Amino acid sequence: MERTFLMVKPDAVRRGLIGSIIARFEAKGFKMVAGKLMQISDELVKKHYYEHEGRPYYQDLTTFMTSGPVFAMVWEGEDVIKLSRFMMGSTDPEKAAPGTIRGDYATRMNRNVIHGSDSPENAEREIHLFFDEREFV
Ligand code: ATP
Ligand code: MG
Repeated sequence: MERTFLMVKPDAVRRGLIGSIIARFEAKGFKMVAGKLMQISDELVKKHYYEHEGRPYYQDLTTFMTSGPVFAMVWEGEDVIKLSRFMMGSTDPEKAAPGTIRGDYATRMNRNVIHGSDSPENAEREIHLFFDEREFV
């Protein structure tokens, strides 16, 4: 079964949105197979967002992502990579449709509530960056 890496970002953890976000993926029919509240280190955020290094927003992004705990998860289900991205909505909350997670809960780019892997290769890479085998149930 396909797996993806999803993460409730620090803004949403601070706002008490972990439960509401998890509920959406459960209601859709996906299954959480690993999950934990954690503080991301500078080293981990660099590895996670390596593709964005050098971009004008990179410093803000890494500072934001290490500003407080995140809730990191692995979810399983049919087409979960594509469908979870669809449920998240556009990266820019100003363009995210109502009914999507970013459309309903976010107003700006660098406070966009949730991360989700964008391809099977990145899902595989990100799952192993954040979790080891013993953490799966
Ligand atoms: P994420 O990887 O966080 O799930 P995404 O896959 O929708 O988001 P990416 O293109 O991977 O979008 O960008 C990663 C993050 O970098 C975005 O969530 C956003 O916070 C920030 N970002 C991306 N592009 C821009 C931009 N043009 N201006 C400001 N911030 C940006
Ligand atoms: Mg991305």
